[in-house]
Amino acid sequence: MRLETLAVHAGARPDPATGAIAPPLYLSTTFERAADGSYPRGYIYTRHGNPNREALEEAMAALEGGAVAMAFASGSAAAFAVLQALSPGDHVIAPRDLYHGLARLFREIATGWGLSISFVDLTDPVAVEAAIRSNTRVIWVETPSNPMLRITDIARVATMARQVGALCICDNTLATPVLQRPLALGADGVVHSATKYLGGHGDAMGGIVVLKEDGAFARRLREIQITGGAVLSPFESWLILRSLRTLPYRMRAHSENAMRVAAFLSQHPAVEAVHYPGLPEHPGHAVAARQMSMFGGMVSFQVRGGRDAAFQVAARVRWFARATSFGGPESLIEHRASIEGPGTTTPDNLLRLAIGLEHPDDLIEDLDQALRGLL
Ligand SMILES: *Cc1c(COP(=O)(O)O)cnc(C)c1O
Repeated sequence: MRLETLAVHAGARPDPATGAIAPPLYLSTTFERAADGSYPRGYIYTRHGNPNREALEEAMAALEGGAVAMAFASGSAAAFAVLQALSPGDHVIAPRDLYHGLARLFREIATGWGLSISFVDLTDPVAVEAAIRSNTRVIWVETPSNPMLRITDIARVATMARQVGALCICDNTLATPVLQRPLALGADGVVHSATKYLGGHGDAMGGIVVLKEDGAFARRLREIQITGGAVLSPFESWLILRSLRTLPYRMRAHSENAMRVAAFLSQHPAVEAVHYPGLPEHPGHAVAARQMSMFGGMVSFQVRGGRDAAFQVAARVRWFARATSFGGPESLIEHRASIEGPGTTTPDNLLRLAIGLEHPDDLIEDLDQALRGLL
């Protein structure tokens, strides 16, 4: 089955009670027992299991090609659950260019109960090799990375992880299973912030973990999800599943628009550098072309003239909202260094664009008028 068909049908079945094609929303927190005390319909309490959450989990497992999926209250909660499934004394290798919220989670919370974390340049296999220890349990990959759009060779890192008995977990938030299938490339698990492209409309927060195998690690993670309680709500599950139906078409449009914008920016005299893996001069382009079908909707660029110039551009644009996050239909612009705060390695003249679903010519004209003000 092709991806578009899978995206429409995964986790879908007509409602057994009414025949409704669009799924009903099951807000009930509790479910009826039979007279003998059993639960013949399989549901007990929504934290344990809810039809909307299960439908989303089934769909995400199918789209990523995994055996199981679990939905959490946010992408951060999903990533946290993976770390919680490890034991004190375990070692994790994480990318130096890691989404800043997860970098804080790894650095300031996970180390508190005895995980040791090494931050490494994952685009450099020699550095990864050198960081591996006998107690390395997870190698965490984020590709493309946020906000520098660096590319890690998933197959290569997954092979290194397998050789030492560690799990390769890939944050697939920027690419989605439409553009990149980490499990098929050898990764053991995929993590998503469903708040971004999976939700796709900027109105739902969620996180997903998909695992290739339904083994001991999956059972541990399920225990953390259900007993820890950071489960995704029925309504968010419903919204995100609804959005998955159009994900392949949206990702294609985000990617086409971003490619156009990146090509435009790379020729602009007011622009110092453009970071987009679809550009042939991007250092990760060859790997990205191998492991991704298109290059995604995120573009970062550095403006000539430093921080003030970057702020001026963000102040002048008309169609780009000045806001954090990405994945919705509307384009966003953000000065990343100021949201990441002190200690960030993101350049001060960098603006991150989340390219939306507007016409690319309107976005290009808008950026052009904002940049021309600098010349
Ligand atoms: C946003 C994001 C997260 C965190 O997800 P939340 O839903 O905000 O908790 C994790 N990884 C990446 C790459 C992200 O962009």
